[in-house]
Amino acid sequence: KLVSREFKQDDTIVDVGGILIGGNHLAVMAGPCAVESREQLLQSAFIVKEAGAQFLRGGAYKPRTSPYAFQGLEEKGLEMLAEARAKTGLKIVTEVVDVESVPVVSAYADMLQIGSRNMQNFQLLKTVGKTNKPVLLKRGLSATINEWLNAAEYIMSEGNYNVVLCERGIRTYEEYTRNTLDLSAVAAVKNISHLPIIVDPSHGTGRWNLVRPMARAGIAAGADGLMIEVHPNPAEALSDGKQSLTPENFELTMQEVKTIAKVM
Ligand code: PEP
Ligand code: MN
Repeated sequence: KLVSREFKQDDTIVDVGGILIGGNHLAVMAGPCAVESREQLLQSAFIVKEAGAQFLRGGAYKPRTSPYAFQGLEEKGLEMLAEARAKTGLKIVTEVVDVESVPVVSAYADMLQIGSRNMQNFQLLKTVGKTNKPVLLKRGLSATINEWLNAAEYIMSEGNYNVVLCERGIRTYEEYTRNTLDLSAVAAVKNISHLPIIVDPSHGTGRWNLVRPMARAGIAAGADGLMIEVHPNPAEALSDGKQSLTPENFELTMQEVKTIAKVM
């Protein structure tokens, strides 16, 4: 298999417009769960840039549990992301939720995010596999490591080898946390595959006060980076405010993970 260590021994380094993911590079993707407004997004972008992130995250198309919840600003949101990139130099990673919107999201984003709910949307995987955009592939909420790596194989088998995995927690019987962040998957994936892997402690825990410790743990486990939700005012966020860091907490998180990354 293309994803396997047998196929390729050395670690893959994915280049996203000059920002490297994998190897000894600590990649941090941060920003709000959803693009809510121009002001909210630009504020978020300056906050995460200042703290040292290289990527701005933010959903313009949101896969919400309820159809009545905020669904995202769609192309307007993509335009705001592009403006934030122009103003900060941050790379843009944003979710593409279906085959039809691959062209429009590709036109604005530096990296295409495949969300947890779409990890086994094989048509979508094949479609992003036919593009030359780097792909962030989140682990399905109930996917085994093997199913997840097969999803990466779908993308690579179409010719796109620029795949980064993201552990974002899996569903277990535990309900104190939103998901159970499976950090053993980080070490396991490093053994089985050459692909870079990052950790999302925001969706992985669902609780802001668990995000900083689990971000530290993710880097200590060998992850190549992090995806973290940050909001200028989490209490007013339209989605995932409970797991979003304040600017101050994100700044502290960055200082701590940089220290850990240095000794890894
Ligand atoms: C997200 O990162 O915006 C998101 C929806 O996460 P997940 O697909 O991991 O639930
Ligand atoms: Mn979210």
